[in-house]
Amino acid sequence: MQMAQQILFVLLSAAAIWLFVKNAGKIVRNIRLGRSLDLSDHPGERMRNMLLLAFGQKKMFRNPMVGVLHFFVYAGFVIINIEVLEIVLDGIFGTHRLFAPMLGGFYNFLINSFEILAVLVIVACVIFLVRRNIIKLRRFTSHDLDGWPRSDANYILITEIVLMTFFLTLNASDTLLQAKGVEHYAEHSTGNFVFSQYLQPVLSGLSVNALIAVERGCWWLHIIGIFAFLNYLPYSKHLHIVLAFPNAWFSKLVPKGKMDNMPAIQNEVLYAMQPELAPAGGEAPPKFGAKDVQDLTWKNMLDAFSCTECGRCSAACPATITGKKLSPRKIMMDTRDRAEEIGKNIDTNGSFQDDGRSLLHDYITVEELRACTTCNACVQECPVSINPLDIILQLRRYLVMEESNAPAEWTGMFGNIENNFAPWKFSPDERDKWTQEL
Ligand code: SF4
Ligand code: SF4
Repeated sequence: MQMAQQILFVLLSAAAIWLFVKNAGKIVRNIRLGRSLDLSDHPGERMRNMLLLAFGQKKMFRNPMVGVLHFFVYAGFVIINIEVLEIVLDGIFGTHRLFAPMLGGFYNFLINSFEILAVLVIVACVIFLVRRNIIKLRRFTSHDLDGWPRSDANYILITEIVLMTFFLTLNASDTLLQAKGVEHYAEHSTGNFVFSQYLQPVLSGLSVNALIAVERGCWWLHIIGIFAFLNYLPYSKHLHIVLAFPNAWFSKLVPKGKMDNMPAIQNEVLYAMQPELAPAGGEAPPKFGAKDVQDLTWKNMLDAFSCTECGRCSAACPATITGKKLSPRKIMMDTRDRAEEIGKNIDTNGSFQDDGRSLLHDYITVEELRACTTCNACVQECPVSINPLDIILQLRRYLVMEESNAPAEWTGMFGNIENNFAPWKFSPDERDKWTQEL
């Protein structure tokens, strides 16, 4: 029986890890759909950003209560996984609490800490569920979250509560079995733990066989739940628990308001206005701006897959606040959805086959793009260093420069710049006329 459990566990672990690696590979492939971009500069500053923003969750603490609750969930997730290591090793070797004899009294300190964290995670997840579903904060009720994204957030919070409950019940039944001197459990007696001891009265009336069933059931469901969570991650906004780190590392280091220049355009203007300064033989890029995700950079794609869908960007966006169609959160979700659509196209056809669709128009409309004031509030607010404005600007450049699709008010100004080298309709020859009156 024990051997059968060990074999089953090894097979299950191998299948879960294989599936995760396969799906993680598809996400890396989808991120690499974007154009290349060298972001290997200033490693010291990038390390500082990663430690502060991803590891320290600096921006989350702007709202201290939410920051602390989120930190519990995050720390609980990371630290309790140390316990999972023991569960995995016990599963493979058929042992009971493998680390207990090695760590001595420190083992109980660790498990007590995990139990405290588990309870804090449960409290935090319940509060987050209440904020989303009962208090209904505005940023969680807007239409860009309709359907799967709203359910996704709830599923994960409920799963975390269930996993932590399994962990506490596992400890309660295990320590009861130890106290009863049941073979295998009594091998390494740990004594009671800080929170699970209060669950013991609920279980103490059960027979030894029923207690073993509860303990084994919690053990299996806990580890199956973790494997399921692992394989759910690639389909969920909770991928940010992994991608927030590289995303913070590769975040923009130049001042937020600085827009990327377009050398081909600059050269064109120089050629018109000061030909002596224009470099000779400069080639225009095949396309100005971006129409689809392949025209964006891999960092834009990493942004899209790192988005937590928290809506802090949209809550600060003047366009969203004033009822315009634009939501920077939707820009990120659309970019990820389109990348996944292209990824499935590649999976089906071996390489991308034109599907007659694009990020611009089919996902993100002209009305949304024109509503952006380029204020950078979304970039400033994002807790995981995402830059929705960068995508908006690239799509808008394509719209204007490749499709000549600009508001009528702008086209007069564009014509004047093109013909008169200034936004006004006066000939350049008349530019110094005003001096004659002096
Ligand atoms: S930069 Fe654009 S999308 Fe971002 S907050 Fe400002 S108006 Fe909204
Ligand atoms: S872009 Fe940033 S702020 Fe906006 S929803 Fe995504 S994670 Fe939240």
